[in-house]
Amino acid sequence: MTVGGVKSARSRAPSRGSDGGRAADPGLGGRAGAGLRGARARAIYVSVLEAILSNRLSPMTRLPEDDLGSIYGASRTIVRSALEALAHDGVIVIEPNRGAFVASPGTAEAREVFDARLLIEPQLAARAAERVSFADIAALRRHLDAEEAAVHGERQQQAILLSGRFHVLMADAAGQVTLARFVRELVSRSSLIVALYWRRRDATCACSAHRALVEALAAGRPELAQQLMRDHLAETLDGLDLTDPRQGVSDLSAALTGG
Ligand SMILES: [Zn+2]
Repeated sequence: MTVGGVKSARSRAPSRGSDGGRAADPGLGGRAGAGLRGARARAIYVSVLEAILSNRLSPMTRLPEDDLGSIYGASRTIVRSALEALAHDGVIVIEPNRGAFVASPGTAEAREVFDARLLIEPQLAARAAERVSFADIAALRRHLDAEEAAVHGERQQQAILLSGRFHVLMADAAGQVTLARFVRELVSRSSLIVALYWRRRDATCACSAHRALVEALAAGRPELAQQLMRDHLAETLDGLDLTDPRQGVSDLSAALTGG
């Protein structure tokens, strides 16, 4: 399909907000963890994030700096940097006297997060359809390819992150920096929620829903984009089992190195 409905390839600067260029990074987490200094911290960040999003580390599991340092052979400074990035993403919590532990979003919080997304994202999708550029469409299509590859390769936790990242790209395409920042935070929290509560075994966000959204943008159809996003988020919320309480894990080393 062409992008014939796009009014023009505006010469808008490719950087949207302060996050330009991220569309080219289909890797695990995308911009997530970007504040990390050094490859070691990033490797720990990715390892722990994967363990959390694949449910090898359950909510409330403690993540002592010393234990992680031993497991990864890294200094506390490096471990702390990784933990701070994970806390920023909302997948762990750091408390002054308790240290770090895996976040435990309850069912009420899960609903709240999706209610907030339903308020913001359909409108942003409409706005994106009004102003999207050819470059945005191309970036979104590249992202869809990466997302589908992750789903078909059964890389579940990567698929979760990429499907979340799609929503961030959509919000960025709307060119509304303040709302896009909210979406980024809500999507980070959603990744853990989906990992914990997703009850279907197929994919995370249905790739077909994402593809339909991109085509609505490409065709310059704001009302359609708005409706598709509303339906898609409602369907995602519907795919969550918000009745199932989870518990912690005791063997940190096995959970982090055994998978
Ligand atoms: Zn989605």
